[in-house]
Amino acid sequence: MKRTIRDLAAFGGAPEFAEPLVLGKPGVGNRQRLFTLLGEALDRGWLTNGAPLAGQFERQVAEVAGTRHAVLTCNATVALQLAIRALGLTGEVIVPALTFAATAHAVSWLGLRPVFCDVHPVTGQLDPAHAESLIGPETSAILAVHLWGNPCAIGELEELAARRGLALLFDAAHAFGCTWRGKPIGGFGSAEVFSFHSTKFVNSFEGGAIVTDDDALAGRAVALRNFGITGPDEVSHVGTNGKMHEASAAMGLTSLAELERFRERNRRNYQVYRKGLASVAGVRLIEFDEREQHNYQYVVILVDEEITGLSRDELARLLYAENVVTRRYFYPGCHTMAPYATAQPLPNRLPNTEDLAARCLALPTGAAATPQQARKVAELVGFLAESGREVTARLTPVRGDLMTT
Ligand SMILES: *Cc1c(COP(=O)(O)O)cnc(C)c1O
Repeated sequence: MKRTIRDLAAFGGAPEFAEPLVLGKPGVGNRQRLFTLLGEALDRGWLTNGAPLAGQFERQVAEVAGTRHAVLTCNATVALQLAIRALGLTGEVIVPALTFAATAHAVSWLGLRPVFCDVHPVTGQLDPAHAESLIGPETSAILAVHLWGNPCAIGELEELAARRGLALLFDAAHAFGCTWRGKPIGGFGSAEVFSFHSTKFVNSFEGGAIVTDDDALAGRAVALRNFGITGPDEVSHVGTNGKMHEASAAMGLTSLAELERFRERNRRNYQVYRKGLASVAGVRLIEFDEREQHNYQYVVILVDEEITGLSRDELARLLYAENVVTRRYFYPGCHTMAPYATAQPLPNRLPNTEDLAARCLALPTGAAATPQQARKVAELVGFLAESGREVTARLTPVRGDLMTT
């Protein structure tokens, strides 16, 4: 516990943690079970193309999502692309700018144009009113994100998409195992996409899934995932190779078996952070509605520099010195990334996105932090926020030396 700012590692004190607390440590589950499944796959000699472990994982994913279909893929980026192709989207797709780059890249890689939409200033979720103002003659769809695992404005977006004749797709990479109005995330819009990347709530090393109740859409996605093959010696579409192999499915099954344990572990950390940060001025935690199910995979704070005297980046740097590795999820806004930046002046092109992107910081949780460690991190954040002005007065401003991802 730091008592004065001289105790901070940035000023020569001992780091709060001897070993780095990282973010996104994989939730593996029972290692022996994983090895057994891998051994069985090797014994079968059937490692991909409709092999049994992928089939089993597919059924379990559909069950969690409450959908008729799950189409497993090698990752969520490819799943988004398959869904976009299977839906026949063209022209422009409205996406939030406050998200991981993959949301926009999936659209752009297919030769469509992502049109960046602002978000709600408090929740960070796609703003349906701004989305409506961006609809033009070329718009074919809205691709919304359940940011940080909180459901986005699903009801309003469904109404908007129906009224304007647009397809609605959800990037649910953060929202596996979550609900909206008691119904699992997965069954909304035309389709939703999960990620099972190793840093996500449930992991399959790399992996993703399209989930949907639409039989025809699922059928097209299955064909597109496998080179557009629709029957023996029959290729009906320009497809790609987006299949999930058995080693990934084995990891996915092993990880998914621990879903409720992971949820509980994450929830405990979230509650520790919530309690620890409740009275810290200038630090707001992204909260989860306790009436819904969440996976609590991200603990995200928003730093108000005017109150703390400390910018988000300065806070991240001070925490890093204490061996607390944080991530700026999500900075910068996609609309400012090189492939998408236009001549339009910044800042304030998407004011809420730019504000939240400048203030958000994800703290260690999941497999990386015990509740005791989370309590210490919360205490540290509280101490730094409260002594922010004193700290910045002593800091040599060194910017741009933070982590790059
Ligand atoms: C992780 C992530 C993706 C990409 O997932 P991959 O499985 O790594 O391709 C897409 N969208 C969001 C919002 C993500 O966080």
